[in-house]
Amino acid sequence: MLIAWLAGRLIDASGADRHPGYQCPACHERVVLHHGRVVPPYFAHHTLGDCVVATEGESAQHICGKRQLATFFAPWGVGRLEKILPEIDQRADCWLDRHDHQPVAIEFQCSPIGRDQVAVRTAGYQKIKVFPCWILGERYHRQQLNWGLVDRFAWEMPGWGLCLLFWDVNRQRLRLDHHLQQMATGKIMATTNWLTAIDDLRRPQPASRLPSISLPAYRQRLTLDLLRGNTGLRDLQETLYRLGKNLPGFPQVFGTTRSYLPIFGRGPIPWRIVVGVWIFSRKTQWTVPELWQLAQEGLVLVGGHSEGGIRFAGEKTLRLALADLVTDLATGHYLQRTETGWQILVIPAWARDGHEWLENNERK
Ligand SMILES: [Zn+2]
Repeated sequence: MLIAWLAGRLIDASGADRHPGYQCPACHERVVLHHGRVVPPYFAHHTLGDCVVATEGESAQHICGKRQLATFFAPWGVGRLEKILPEIDQRADCWLDRHDHQPVAIEFQCSPIGRDQVAVRTAGYQKIKVFPCWILGERYHRQQLNWGLVDRFAWEMPGWGLCLLFWDVNRQRLRLDHHLQQMATGKIMATTNWLTAIDDLRRPQPASRLPSISLPAYRQRLTLDLLRGNTGLRDLQETLYRLGKNLPGFPQVFGTTRSYLPIFGRGPIPWRIVVGVWIFSRKTQWTVPELWQLAQEGLVLVGGHSEGGIRFAGEKTLRLALADLVTDLATGHYLQRTETGWQILVIPAWARDGHEWLENNERK
């Protein structure tokens, strides 16, 4: 920790002298000033009791980063390091008191942390009407974008879409991964901008174009994945087998090149395939609530998340994807609108496998 009590005052470790009387501002136990060669000055509990804010073993990166972030965010309000919030038993790494705005609590996350802990801390801040802002340290920079990151730390920022924030201690810059999207084939993508000043956030940048999708290449990939026994596809393939279908031979109308918020687990196309096959194999007439039920069931089967993440909701995205699928099926004259929902007209054709499609339909 960077801040300790001494004789009724908060003392910053950077300007502190050795003294036997330093106390933890949260639990009031004795803390000791440490001076390292690599690590800048910091306080640590003399004996680790059950202090709620103890962060012993704090890395040099975390100690430096907190100070850098306080400076970086300073144009937005009065910054404070390590504000203790006794009402929720939490301590914010950095705190911003903003004029005419909600206060902001910055959590500079450098160590591993589980979903539950992030959820509890986020809910704590929200309970006292503070905006929690998670900024990720080095260990997270190297990770490929994945659901675990998005689920715990992403939120929607006006103009920037769904975002993740990273702080680079060496370059002293904020990496903003914005417009997080899941491509139809499943990969999670973002547009990255490096911000050198916090006011850059007031000028949202557009999303860059996602790579184009080739459905023939995707069928080939599914074929290979199945040959290799990719366990992520097992439930999906078994569901289709029971209906006499083979995953890579999915009807063309079940494919799409659209991208969505990243709630689809294996991806939007696998979800469309399973919902599509159910629509045409279970009944001939569907009400709108029944289709919504299918959409949710399908999402579970492909490992998706209809509730969204800790800081963003998923329902709107799932409703949009269902509307897109039904529109595609209606446009292709496979479904027709009725008074209460939809009526099946024609069942889309499946190929025996991906190759047959390539031979007959998609190879030019
Ligand atoms: Zn303490």
